[in-house]
Amino acid sequence: MLQVNNLSFSYKNQSVLSNINFSVEAGEHFSIIGESGSGKSTLLKLLYGTYDLNEGDIFWKEHEILGPKHNLIVGPEYMKYVAQEFDLMPFISVSENIGAFLSNFYPEEKQARINELLEVVELNEVANTKVKYLSGGQKQRVAIARAIAKQPEVLLLDEPFSHIDNFKKQSLRRSLFKFLKEKNITCIVATHDKDDVLSFSDQMIVLHDAKIIAKNTPQSLYNNPKDKLIASFFEEFNEINGHIVYAHQVNITDKSNLKATVKQSYYKGNYYLIKAEIGDDIVFFEYPENLKNGLEVCLSIEKNKL
Ligand code: ADP
Ligand code: MG
Repeated sequence: MLQVNNLSFSYKNQSVLSNINFSVEAGEHFSIIGESGSGKSTLLKLLYGTYDLNEGDIFWKEHEILGPKHNLIVGPEYMKYVAQEFDLMPFISVSENIGAFLSNFYPEEKQARINELLEVVELNEVANTKVKYLSGGQKQRVAIARAIAKQPEVLLLDEPFSHIDNFKKQSLRRSLFKFLKEKNITCIVATHDKDDVLSFSDQMIVLHDAKIIAKNTPQSLYNNPKDKLIASFFEEFNEINGHIVYAHQVNITDKSNLKATVKQSYYKGNYYLIKAEIGDDIVFFEYPENLKNGLEVCLSIEKNKL
């Protein structure tokens, strides 16, 4: 398994990560979340051995992952890393890029493997297109396919679907994470998208102010977000008497002490997000229909929340 012990790191004199500890079991899917600039990409790069640590150590099984001071080639053999900026060969085809690191000794097996990967990232249609003609999202998918071509033990993904449009994102996400689970590839994802985490991660950590402020299963952090930062990652929420209450946990009722005035309704597809005022406070709740501005309503909060 991957073991990170007392890791600290700074760029020059800006401390980015301080006293980071966590472990990831082989085959587990693990997410790193946090605001922009919280150090997610830096942490992935450190796991890959890109920089030397100021303190602490990182192990995969019995191998220590060391930075450039101790290693000529960055990146251990058993690990692959897909950066936020991917680095592909523009003048050769999608298939050739995906197969770039596969052996040519067994051409049939190589082609079969490339076909399997084209399927996983849904790029069959552009298999023979030169990479320079692809969109950002298609390039990102080529980079992912190339990283898993030789079946690494550990895959590091930095915001893997950030360039991919909503039409493709959902099915690609299911297909990739299913493939990784089937092959027992340990996967560590830095993301700001809850949909990368909720259905697919076994564990997650939240980075803030250079530290891990929460470490648990997505279910546990969703159900008991300890603070506003964690709740805001998942959903629209309110802070009521010091409790975090998601918008879907506030309902309209016949009678209550919580009298609110509707200010705005936002269409969300299968519900409306309603912004309302209770005195000077703003409250958000979900409702199946559009509500008129100025309408007075009574609200109740789901019992287990207060
Ligand atoms: P995230 O991926 O969570 O957005 P990053 O790891 O990219 O965060 O960045 C964390 C902090 O480190 C930011 O303040 C960023 O400006 C800084 N940083 C990132 N890369 C470098 C670098 N190569 N040199 C100096 N500072 C950097
Ligand atoms: Mg980043």
